[in-house]
Amino acid sequence: MHPEGQTVKQRTAVNTRRRVGRRDAEEAIRTLLRWAGEDPSREGLRDTPKRVVSAYADWFSGYSVDPGAYLRRTFEEVEGYDEMVVLRDIAFESFCEHHMAPIIGRAHIGYLPTDRVVGISKLARVVDGFARRFQVQEKLTAQIAACINEVLKPRGVGVVIDAVHQCMTTRGVHKRGVSMVTSSMLGTFRKDGSTRAEFLRFIDIERKGAS
Ligand SMILES: [Zn+2]
Repeated sequence: MHPEGQTVKQRTAVNTRRRVGRRDAEEAIRTLLRWAGEDPSREGLRDTPKRVVSAYADWFSGYSVDPGAYLRRTFEEVEGYDEMVVLRDIAFESFCEHHMAPIIGRAHIGYLPTDRVVGISKLARVVDGFARRFQVQEKLTAQIAACINEVLKPRGVGVVIDAVHQCMTTRGVHKRGVSMVTSSMLGTFRKDGSTRAEFLRFIDIERKGAS
């Protein structure tokens, strides 16, 4: 992953989104409804474009945030704590960039702090900041790890994501119950097998499925 490259891409995405007005977005939904065989003017659908665009504004709010800022703003002195910090089962919702279908899953994050740790909610916000965009699970995993690595500068960081892709479960091959697991290990989590094993033991990935 090249963080600078991503920044440029993110900026482009924000600019593109700002150029499209709300009315244009609602019209696009009306077009989709017509394409599907519906009459967008019937009563049940009259306010649907408005509602869909509002929902999208929420689902894709990640384009207007800088996830790293959550970690930069507040951190606490660790007072000598130098053991692994693990946050598991951070539920998230994202959308696959190939089908615009939901990706529902959980993220598990571990890091070995140097001189700073952050509150639990900050790491969850980082996950949401990247998840609330059109994503590929591998990219999401790598972005979260890179962001924590860059801002907290820990000795190592590990991110594991376990998720169900609705483009796989509700269409195409229609495979229910299939979840995809991706991981990104940096620093000591990559270099040191026992650190990585400790992290995986903490999150107990084998026992759980995405739910
Ligand atoms: Zn997909």
